[in-house]
Amino acid sequence: MTVPRIYLPEPLEAGAVCDLPGEDRRYVKSVLRLRKNDHIVLFDGSGFEYQARILEAGGNRLAVEILKKDFIRSETFRLTLCQALPKSGKMDFIAQKATELGVIRIVPFHSVRSVPRLSADRRAEKVSRWRKIAIEAARQSGRVDVPEIGPCVDFREMLQSAPPGSLKIIFWEEEPRLGIRKALRTDTPDAAENIVVAVGPEGGFSKEEVGLAVEAGFRSVSLGRRILRVETAVVAILSIIQYEMGSLRDPEDREA
Ligand code: SAM
Repeated sequence: MTVPRIYLPEPLEAGAVCDLPGEDRRYVKSVLRLRKNDHIVLFDGSGFEYQARILEAGGNRLAVEILKKDFIRSETFRLTLCQALPKSGKMDFIAQKATELGVIRIVPFHSVRSVPRLSADRRAEKVSRWRKIAIEAARQSGRVDVPEIGPCVDFREMLQSAPPGSLKIIFWEEEPRLGIRKALRTDTPDAAENIVVAVGPEGGFSKEEVGLAVEAGFRSVSLGRRILRVETAVVAILSIIQYEMGSLRDPEDREA
């Protein structure tokens, strides 16, 4: 059994003793049935991972001793997914798969053809739900960092959200020329370090939206003749990029 991983978003040091909060305490004691001297791994979501040993598991307390603190460089480049709000439920799936596939940021946004028009309260509720899904996906997939999610913005704010110098790609099924492999070729280190992809909703992007994105420095890119569902497109795009540029490459080809 792999050593269980627990998300604990607080700075810790080797040698420290800390108490696991309620939910995690129950998970470790009742679900995992771990006992004194068993080992667990804590991760704080910002890149630090802690080897820990259960010191005390009696009564209402679960104290762990931090044995070792490591900073784990999770990705060789920063991959951001800008996702036009799809119909209900799909964003849960997208938040989970995008986390497993190494994105460091998810920018949900309203596009012209996004079906759900969420009120400000509903947006906040949804973003907090997607954050919880991302934490669980990070824990399950062994990531030490948790992607930043939200807030939910409008199309123009999404265009402005990309870090300067990023390689920006908007996926458009009517793009006649550029495919993903050529689009990923770049000669500037900044662009290779920061990749931002935008995926549309079920109805796709409008021509105007694609035009605005290209004006803002995005490359319009086709995934070929087949029209993929939103959730299929996200998994395909992120997998291809990770294969071409990052953590799905052969281990010896990956940067240290
Ligand atoms: N507008 C399309 C239609 O009328 O069937 C459907 C859009 S598709 C369901 C959702 C999103 O996935 C698109 O906005 C695009 O970002 C991406 N996508 C799907 N297939 C694609 C392709 N062949 N090339 C580029 N992007 C694609």
